[in-house]
Amino acid sequence: MKIVLATRNPGKIVELRRILDGMTVVGLDAYPQIEDVAETGLTFAENALLKAHAVAQGSGLPAVADDSGLCVDALNGMPGIFSARWSGRHGDDDANLDLLLAQVSDVPDAHRQAHFACTAALALPTGEEWTAEGAIHGSLIRARRGTNGFGYDPIFVPDGDSRTTAELDPDEKDAISHRGKAFRALAEIISQVLVTSP
Ligand code: IMP
Repeated sequence: MKIVLATRNPGKIVELRRILDGMTVVGLDAYPQIEDVAETGLTFAENALLKAHAVAQGSGLPAVADDSGLCVDALNGMPGIFSARWSGRHGDDDANLDLLLAQVSDVPDAHRQAHFACTAALALPTGEEWTAEGAIHGSLIRARRGTNGFGYDPIFVPDGDSRTTAELDPDEKDAISHRGKAFRALAEIISQVLVTSP
């Protein structure tokens, strides 16, 4: 069973291979003719489905994609789907984090709740689609701590822990993270849809 993961990020491919044990997971690098899809949706699910459908059509194989971000209560859920480009420069983790810290600098400790959210999507070349969601709740600290992870990890402390997600080992983070939860839920759907189909 072969699945295409709609990313060129080798870290995500390794992560999904671990979760989808027994299936062949290939990245977009195997399909250079498929162009990057603009994330024009207004929800994580819309963006994940846009990517999954484009890759399923382009490759003729089942395709998996995800979209994720940090939702801050005091900012009415932002940066949300704009997390990767919050400062205006796509993928500039440092600038995105600095801007967010400045925006919530006046928010008192009691009101600094936030969550990471992820939607993972499966699309077939026939146009059929499925999604699965995951979230991890916590709060924002005022200065970076930890060097693991990426993005907003250095300022996010999950509920029930005193460490930031940048201070967790990758396996520890996978076990509780929004992406881990969404991909494990999608893995169940994939095994039902693909393994049981003729
Ligand atoms: P994407 O799902 O790869 O498009 O990532 C969206 C953006 O959300 C990332 O660039 C990060 O800014 C943020 N983000 C998503 N997941 C995480 C996480 O696990 N830790 C820290 N930041 C994250």
